[in-house]
Amino acid sequence: MDNLFSLKGKTAVVTGSNTGLGQAICVAYAKYGANVVGVSRRSSDETKKLVEDLGGKFFEVRADLSTTEPVKGIIEASFNHFGSCDILVNNAGIIKREDAINVLEADWNQVIDVNLNVVFFLSQEFAKENIKRGKTAKIINICSMLSYQGGIRVPAYTASKSAVIGLTRALCNEWASKGINVNGIAPGYMETNNTTQIRSDEERQEEILKRIPQNRWGKPSDVAGAAIFLASDASNYVNGFTIAVDGGWLAR
Ligand code: NAD
Repeated sequence: MDNLFSLKGKTAVVTGSNTGLGQAICVAYAKYGANVVGVSRRSSDETKKLVEDLGGKFFEVRADLSTTEPVKGIIEASFNHFGSCDILVNNAGIIKREDAINVLEADWNQVIDVNLNVVFFLSQEFAKENIKRGKTAKIINICSMLSYQGGIRVPAYTASKSAVIGLTRALCNEWASKGINVNGIAPGYMETNNTTQIRSDEERQEEILKRIPQNRWGKPSDVAGAAIFLASDASNYVNGFTIAVDGGWLAR
């Protein structure tokens, strides 16, 4: 039997490719044979080097994902550069911490734009182009523990990530019959820029650690397995579901 997890000959678009989970996913995909289109606001040179050191191919698209303006160009770049666009990982995301009572409308909108609006319209463009070509494809949305829970002082983030888990199901219902798998990954508490602020608060960091059954924070490379699985043929009959990679957090 062929390797069910191989991504050889496939192209993956990963948003937020310059750091954290996005970078780890780019590297994992290159290891399993995929070409990678990395989308980021800032340079993805470090990721490009990591991918190329593995013998992989990396193409950078520089884009600000706080508006839908770059959406068409991103999918087009993948088809033009590598001839296909088989996997989309909606990973780019932002978090703004503030008491709900003080949240400014501009900050609320920015979080919803990056974490939800662009996720939908990028997925729409990706699906449209693959359905038009009669190609099967995989969408992986990066959700959160706050797709399930309320969180503290991050109301826009919680709203966006709760919406994305719902969107994952909604898009599965419309696109599964057209050959598109739409799934999610809900990372637990991971050591990335996203959590620098709470990790620098010793009390909060300790509180979180105590609640993680596996007794450690996650590392970016911890999401690699689920990301490869959901992108590969191994998950061909998995659709509309979100896998938690959380060291057991949700089991508590
Ligand atoms: P990170 O801050 O290192 O990465 C966020 C990525 O999003 C960066 O590459 C950044 O450049 C990109 N990004 C943000 N705004 C952008 C914009 N306007 N245009 C283009 N790119 C933009 O943090 P991370 O933890 O790697 O976050 C990746 C994803 O994982 C996010 O969706 C985040 O919400 C989610 N997540 C993280 C954790 C965690 O504990 N770290 C937990 C659950 C979910």
